[in-house]
Amino acid sequence: MAGLNSAVLVLNKSWVAVHVASVRRAMSLLYRGLAQVVHPEDFTTYDFSSWTEASEHALENYIRTVNRKILIPQIIILPGYNGFVKRRAAFNRRTIFERDKYRCQYCGSRLPSSELTLDHVVPRSRGGKSAWDNIVVACVKCNTRKGNSLPGEAGMRLLKKPSKPKWPATSGIRVSRGLYASWERFLSQAYWDTELSE
Ligand SMILES: [Zn+2]
Repeated sequence: MAGLNSAVLVLNKSWVAVHVASVRRAMSLLYRGLAQVVHPEDFTTYDFSSWTEASEHALENYIRTVNRKILIPQIIILPGYNGFVKRRAAFNRRTIFERDKYRCQYCGSRLPSSELTLDHVVPRSRGGKSAWDNIVVACVKCNTRKGNSLPGEAGMRLLKKPSKPKWPATSGIRVSRGLYASWERFLSQAYWDTELSE
């Protein structure tokens, strides 16, 4: 049975997928009247009381509270929300690899992550910071060749100037695959990016 920590797709009032929340969070929004459940098959919406009524005869995938059963929602909608939840790009190895599309930023080779390294454009030994605009993906060969030089000194050029990724491009979420078939309607093909799978 799906638990309180399984995922619920969150739509804004325009029915655009903007977030993935835990069931716990979704239930809290539903209970407070801030969200409605979207039925996974016919996409009709339910408020807290109509959803608990509809859950009465549930045989599986429900949460039991003291006196009732509540079906675990797969999708909720925020009728009062028309924005997008901003996904802050975490500054870590994975997001830098994603930003640079697993491509060495010097020679352009696209390689599996095991064959790629992170390179400080201005080397740390020369005051270079660990920041979005100073770290790029580099293959082992280019990283070795560059050593403690600046790219120009090593006769190398960056494919593009590194910067902080501007995620999200159009929506607040990027998921590698939908948890439920019911999500597919709301996730455009652009988000089915296998590179992002964790
Ligand atoms: Zn390279």
